[in-house]
Amino acid sequence: MAKTVETHEADRDEQARPVDVVIIGAGFAGLYAVYRFRDQMGLEVQAYETGDGVGGTWYWNRYPGARCDSESFYYCFSFDRELAQDWEWSGKYPEQPEIEGYLNHVADRFALRRSIQLSTRVTRARFDDATHRWEVETEHGERVSARYLISAVGCLSAANLPEISGRDQFEGELCHTARWPKDGIDFSGKRVGLIGTGSTGIQATPVIASQADHLTVFQRTPNFTVPARHAAFAPEDQAAIKRDYDDIFKRTRESPAGFPYFPIDRSTHDVPPEERETILEGLWEEGGFKFLWGGFNDLTRDPAANEIASEFIRNKIRATVEDPETAELLCPTCHPYGSKRPPIDTDYYVSFNRDNVDLVDIKTHPIEEITATGLRTAQEEYDLDVLVFATGFDAMTGSLLKIDIEGSGGVRLADTWRDGPRTFLGLQIAGFPNLFTVTGPGSPSVLTNMPVAIEHHVNWIADCVKYMTDNGQTCVEATQSAQDAWADHVADIAAGSLMASSNSWYVGANIPGKPRAVAPYTGGQPQYRARCDEVVAFRP
Ligand code: NAP
Repeated sequence: MAKTVETHEADRDEQARPVDVVIIGAGFAGLYAVYRFRDQMGLEVQAYETGDGVGGTWYWNRYPGARCDSESFYYCFSFDRELAQDWEWSGKYPEQPEIEGYLNHVADRFALRRSIQLSTRVTRARFDDATHRWEVETEHGERVSARYLISAVGCLSAANLPEISGRDQFEGELCHTARWPKDGIDFSGKRVGLIGTGSTGIQATPVIASQADHLTVFQRTPNFTVPARHAAFAPEDQAAIKRDYDDIFKRTRESPAGFPYFPIDRSTHDVPPEERETILEGLWEEGGFKFLWGGFNDLTRDPAANEIASEFIRNKIRATVEDPETAELLCPTCHPYGSKRPPIDTDYYVSFNRDNVDLVDIKTHPIEEITATGLRTAQEEYDLDVLVFATGFDAMTGSLLKIDIEGSGGVRLADTWRDGPRTFLGLQIAGFPNLFTVTGPGSPSVLTNMPVAIEHHVNWIADCVKYMTDNGQTCVEATQSAQDAWADHVADIAAGSLMASSNSWYVGANIPGKPRAVAPYTGGQPQYRARCDEVVAFRP
């Protein structure tokens, strides 16, 4: 211990290595940021990544059934035409290994690895008011000094492992889905318990059920899910995508949610009930996120319209799940469809017709304790060999706040955000000059197709840095008044959405003690981009 302290002190005496830009994270955002700042702007860049490989979300989330909920051909980078033309997606919703493979291909293709230090967590960052530089420290005691600090830590990367009594005494295998072992888990002949029925639990359930001796799903809140309808691409599908790529990418930048589709502008109430049913049935058959916005324009704001779509899904659950009691347990009644992030699935509800799958209602009979041999609820004890936590993330702020960040005047970010995150455009924080947050809270981020939001942010930041460099400036910071106006607008606009009233990670309700606030910007991409453009156009 004494030796560790001595080494650490010795490191501190050495000069921090100077670079232009430090990037934290090597997922979609970090990889593109390395390329943009290093290869397109000629800056000296150092990126750090906690994992021992690149990929971010797609490195960590290797649980069974993990696949993308956005279609592959636009859930990817658009910045390089040849990359888009050369890469072949196997189908609509690729599994985790394929996306991890894609991101590794990007890292190799653009030789990004030489600027990325893997297996290295950034622990501390401190802004020096005298030099206008960030001093950044890693878990290994290395120190670098950078003019700009770019957070590319991701919105959903700090795993939430709830403090359930007795958790550490479990003698079987216990794993969070976002920290899944690289060698996987062999479920054969095993009794598996799974806690959590968000997008992750819903993807994992059918796959674990097909491999395990028995699966018990512990459900606190039932969830609405719509079939994904995954399909492999035929060569002619791939050719058509590549032919249309310029237009596809253009549409992703112009549409409200970063998809190459535009929502239908039609109220649920303008359509007679029979026609409404036909429209919803068509969307159900088509599958995917389109169910939320591809039929009607009022599901996210009008409770009555939402209830029609919600009841349509409940009826699908009742028609699919053979045991009526289980079907009713699976029917969500406490939140409107889409007010929590809507999952899409492959064979979720039908899994509950299997003889080896049980559903346990832990809302009525809460988990009391994890024991050495399983789990005990208020009603019953369950013997388990494997316990899977699909319990989500400390979303939007968790990963950034794990780093001890001190801005101008020694103010800590953890203190600044004590009552919830406030930012200017989700890009900057008043009091933290030269720090940029890619897809930070207060930007559309998780409500859009992420790679589109990421490219937009990295490009905006790069343009800002270029302006600074060209004009001999060393410090850029959001003013308090601009931030207040934006953060108030983010809150006002969210207040009218159904999302604000539901308990989900969107509002921080999944983490005990976290201040409640709708973290992403709900106004849509076009309005958001227009505001970002206005800031660029403004010259004091
Ligand atoms: P999540 O949506 O937050 O769901 C977590 C689940 O765990 C919920 O059912 C929650 O119940 C339950 N839970 C949490 N703490 C618990 C506790 N102490 N006791 C019992 N149950 C507890 O997390 P997620 O499913 O990992 O998904 C998070 C987000 O990641 C998604 O919304 C999505 O944006 C992203 N994701 C994307 C994909 C994809 O596109 N490929 C796949 C998976 C996830 P309550 O609802 O009662 O809180």
